[in-house]
Amino acid sequence: MKPTSARVIADLEALAALTTDARGAQRVAWGPTWQAARAWFTAKLQDELGIEPERDGAGNLWATLPGASPKSLIIGSHLDSVPGGGWLDGVLGVLAGLEVLRRARESGKPPITLRLVDWADEEGARFGRSLAGSAASAGTLDAEAELAHLVDRQGVKLPDALAANGVTLAGMGTARAYFDRLDAAAYLELHIEQGPVLEAMRKPTGVVLGTMGVERHQLTFVGQAAHSGAAPIHLRKDAFLAAAEFALACRDISIAYSGKTPRTRVVATCGVVKVEPNFVTAVPGSTEISIDLRALDGKVLGKMLADARKAATKAARRHHVEVRWSPLLHITPRPFDPTLMGFVRAAVKQVTGAAPELPSGPLHDAAEMAGVVPTAMVFAQSSPGISHTKVEDTPRPALDKSIRAFLIAVDATIAHLAAGAAAPRPAARRPARARA
Ligand SMILES: [Zn+2]
Repeated sequence: MKPTSARVIADLEALAALTTDARGAQRVAWGPTWQAARAWFTAKLQDELGIEPERDGAGNLWATLPGASPKSLIIGSHLDSVPGGGWLDGVLGVLAGLEVLRRARESGKPPITLRLVDWADEEGARFGRSLAGSAASAGTLDAEAELAHLVDRQGVKLPDALAANGVTLAGMGTARAYFDRLDAAAYLELHIEQGPVLEAMRKPTGVVLGTMGVERHQLTFVGQAAHSGAAPIHLRKDAFLAAAEFALACRDISIAYSGKTPRTRVVATCGVVKVEPNFVTAVPGSTEISIDLRALDGKVLGKMLADARKAATKAARRHHVEVRWSPLLHITPRPFDPTLMGFVRAAVKQVTGAAPELPSGPLHDAAEMAGVVPTAMVFAQSSPGISHTKVEDTPRPALDKSIRAFLIAVDATIAHLAAGAAAPRPAARRPARARA
């Protein structure tokens, strides 16, 4: 059956109308609008497909269309949004997955089992821990250690918000065992790019190479606060000037390590600067600055971090201050599966005549899945190239092409897995387990 995008786009519009107000999408995980989105999605599964979705211990919602073989292709993304978010982030992947189930049902029993998952709390918008549901399934979440203490801006504790949704921290620990019973052979996700790369290339859809690794640290430069009139320049210990030099050096590092293609592009960002004592007549005695380095190649990421450390030491010495580092986040790059990427490449090329490739700077549930099962992603162009805002958008022609390319890639993956399912399985072949 020829893949079309019409039903997916109609569903996207219907869910946006249900869950968006003047400030944007309000499907924040565990809250009432998110619950309404899930109720709408559940009703569609029941009414259109007769499927009763099931929830695992982490609150992930699973819809299963059994096939001739229990071997499973998993398709997923997330219905939750940031507050004031857009109409496509996450929802596009879930509703494209719904179309996969509809198409499969219309052509009879699929040769392998198809599972659609709506991951719980991808955004981490309310409590700060992103990818909670998919990390629980991948076995990389320590719910007790990472979630028990989290509190939202209103003072609500995460365990209480979970309890209101029938989820417990202990239950989250069972999501990995649930996942292990699914006989997962591949994971595919369609998502908007959320950045300007495809738009700048004038490409409607692209092949995702993997998610970038992240090195995130907080630095504190400590000098001596002094009176801005009384302290001569050569006798100052200005912590802000050292931090400012460090920030400029990080920009140079990102330029030095960036290649010309999206695959080899790297980024460095100093997003937080806090100056003490922070008034106009004081030489800054202490400055906190954050650094967030990202690259698809782990070796390059390591070199960027080493250079950033040297730059910090040099800047500190030049301004007679000290510098301390404290790590915030370390994520290894997650390259996607070459075979599945081949299907995505062929599908994108079939629909658009070209197959641009790019890494994902933002993390996705697919990054967690890549640790436990062969994984690939399709990106839809974002135009304007921004996300997590109500102006997030993908022009209709690009949306149509991305959805069709995704459905074709799914068909190719099903055919590939079905061929493998028919053949006797080599005894030693097992899906890769979590590395983290
Ligand atoms: Zn998303």
